[in-house]
Amino acid sequence: MSEGSFYITTAIDYVNGSPHLGHAYEKITTDVIARWRRLRGDQVRFLTGTDEHGIKVERTARDAGLTPKDYVDQLAPSFQRAWDQLDISYDRFIRTTDPDHARSVVLLLERIRDNGYLREGSYEGWYCEGCEAFKTEKDFVDGRCPEHPNRAPRWLEESNLFFELSRFTQPLLEHIAANPSFIEPEFRRNEVLGLLREGLEDISISRSDESVSWGIPIPFREGTVIYVWFDALINYLTGAGFGSDAALFEELWPADLHIIGKDIGRFHCIIWPAMLLAAGLPLPHQVFLHGWVLTSGEKMSKSTGVSIDPEEMASTWGADPLRYFLTSEVSFGRDGEFSWKRFEEVYNAHLANGLGNLLSRATGMALKYFDSVPDPKGRRDSLLSEVCEKATGEAAQCYDRLELHRATAAAWRIISSCNEQIQHREPWKMAKNPDQRGDLAEFLYAVLESLRIAMILLSPVIPNKAGECLKAMGCEQAQSFAADCRWGGLKAGAPLQKPAPLFPRIEAKAPAS
Ligand SMILES: [Zn+2]
Repeated sequence: MSEGSFYITTAIDYVNGSPHLGHAYEKITTDVIARWRRLRGDQVRFLTGTDEHGIKVERTARDAGLTPKDYVDQLAPSFQRAWDQLDISYDRFIRTTDPDHARSVVLLLERIRDNGYLREGSYEGWYCEGCEAFKTEKDFVDGRCPEHPNRAPRWLEESNLFFELSRFTQPLLEHIAANPSFIEPEFRRNEVLGLLREGLEDISISRSDESVSWGIPIPFREGTVIYVWFDALINYLTGAGFGSDAALFEELWPADLHIIGKDIGRFHCIIWPAMLLAAGLPLPHQVFLHGWVLTSGEKMSKSTGVSIDPEEMASTWGADPLRYFLTSEVSFGRDGEFSWKRFEEVYNAHLANGLGNLLSRATGMALKYFDSVPDPKGRRDSLLSEVCEKATGEAAQCYDRLELHRATAAAWRIISSCNEQIQHREPWKMAKNPDQRGDLAEFLYAVLESLRIAMILLSPVIPNKAGECLKAMGCEQAQSFAADCRWGGLKAGAPLQKPAPLFPRIEAKAPAS
């Protein structure tokens, strides 16, 4: 990894259904972090994509009367299109059916074999097809996988290729002890440590092509394909140029941050780092596990039937309201809730009334009384400039710590302070008194300048509306956090535009279906 580069990834989505709000939540929050790092001056590389192999895809395709390849070729673009609609600023959309991925998977597997961490063995055990993973009885509730209560686990017996995961219990414990921030939040780290202390078992990483044929063939073991999880995890290496672009790989690896859901911690915090250690590659700096977005306590996913179409929301209201809601309402790392009622409340209270009104009042008064950005003549509103300074420091610290909801809240305090100060100072009264012309200029300048700073702080979350708002104030798009958040950036005398309503009030409800 080279200085100033920041390689960030989402999990790749399994394409046996359409993108739902849970998928969107992870892409949006990762995008907020990626945009924040760019604003901080990092060279960001942002990877997302789709996981396309395995028995579930094979079976769903068969049921639809399609080949697996035709099936994934139909579905993968719907994910990419949804992320485009939501302004996810990824640099590459990787598909595990991409040719460079197959090469990178085989290369990694061969390295692990050459280093002596693969062995032949036979395996029998309970297999959950929903998870595509072997399970032990203690994983079950009433004899079923708790994640897939509608599917009976199958007893599977196979002669297989094994990855000697058991040899990594101690190295992983040591790595986490030396690098506690490798797994965040802390309560997730403790769960992983608990699993490690129970000891690890070797895992089967081949599937005979009688049971699964839709996968990457193992070149040195005829008639078998690679276990879908083993294949999928390697996408993070492929996306960094492993096996195809040595210079890029040198620049990007190890990854800085993997953002994943809390349900796949074992794969990312145990199996993945063990695979890398076995191949002699450095480990990513951090794996961050986010919670789920629930509707009335239920996880949003295809299997529970709860589905809100993020693409439809973006095409109805633009990407920013959903981006803002999910970032500000959910404590990143914990579970959160989505309801149409709450969405409408947050939209109208924060975006329409709080931010939208502030922009239209502030530009409206400045235009009416001064025709352009008023000149404060070197005077600085001490209250608002202090609010901005404090909020800027706090937002930066919170973004860095991935406390995204708190970063948003810090920026929000600027907007509420401006609205409070307008109520309190009553600039329309100051305008009637010629003696107060200097005070009025100072105050309206401070409100506009505060709004400008708030928009830079919120630009990772609401990139479009922040851009529109800055444009209405005659400012450039946010480029650099350090340079742009300094008080005084707004030029006195700069032209102002009367903006179109930034966030027209809405009545949001579940689309009739
Ligand atoms: Zn399962």
